[in-house]
Amino acid sequence: MAKTKQGKRDVDAYTIKGTNKVVRVGDCVLMRPADTDKPQYVARVERMESDGRGGVRVRVRWYYRPEEAKGGRRPFHGAKELFLSDHFDTQSAHTIEGKCIVHSFKSYTKLDNVGPEDFYCRFDYKAATGAFTPDRVAVYCKCEMPYNPDDLMVQCEGCKDWFHPSCMGMTIEQAKKIDHYMCSDCAKENGAKRPSNSYPVSPNSDSKGRNPGVYDNWMDCHAQVNGFASNLYQRYKTWEEANRTWLLYKRHQDQATEIKAAIAETCKAPEKPPTVNCSKDLIIILLVVVVAVQMWLLFAK
Ligand SMILES: [Zn+2]
Ligand SMILES: [Zn+2]
Repeated sequence: MAKTKQGKRDVDAYTIKGTNKVVRVGDCVLMRPADTDKPQYVARVERMESDGRGGVRVRVRWYYRPEEAKGGRRPFHGAKELFLSDHFDTQSAHTIEGKCIVHSFKSYTKLDNVGPEDFYCRFDYKAATGAFTPDRVAVYCKCEMPYNPDDLMVQCEGCKDWFHPSCMGMTIEQAKKIDHYMCSDCAKENGAKRPSNSYPVSPNSDSKGRNPGVYDNWMDCHAQVNGFASNLYQRYKTWEEANRTWLLYKRHQDQATEIKAAIAETCKAPEKPPTVNCSKDLIIILLVVVVAVQMWLLFAK
């Protein structure tokens, strides 16, 4: 064993108090939180050393739960999702209450049974800046959300995209019963061939959106428009351009002709973003304009 500081030496293994579970460097552990109402902290053990007084100190790298990260929990975060942070600490080994496994996202989605000790991590997280790596992940469904492994999704046999039953106007029960699924777009294309498999989204006439405005990232913009059948959004290259269009829209909200012009401008050839971009460096300006269904229908013509 390597000598480190005076009286301290590296420890290879630590047995969790009151158990026969042995912790080694590289293992993931559950640690007692300062506030006992909170869920246990999750950490990866980077190093263990004796404290020179019969105890063991562990150097840990924290995993953050979505609620502990900047931006909080998003709809696509699974219940067992963790972010590997760049936040390190040294703790008494006494605070270790159990062991756990933090899987890669891929291996987590292949688990037959998810036990209480199973977690997954697909993002690294910088605690100081709130930045995630990778800053882009694949998105699915009409709602363009990253995959939440807790949510049931059905795959379209036509376009091979995956869809949330609720986004396609189905209940979970209906979705579980169908063997072959065609999304509404593909069903439309295939016309009479597969009419029974299409579940058109029923428009929600109460939808007015949440907080219409200008957003500097797709995640926040998406949070505003998600689930609103009458939502409108558009990406702009500059903040000024987005702001200008937004102010124009607001100013002329009561003047039908000008609204029409603003919407026509706003929604010219809406482009489907292929990925979600969480990067603060890459500024994507999005304008969220939410209008009543009638207006949307008017535009849709
Ligand atoms: Zn969806
Ligand atoms: Zn499809």
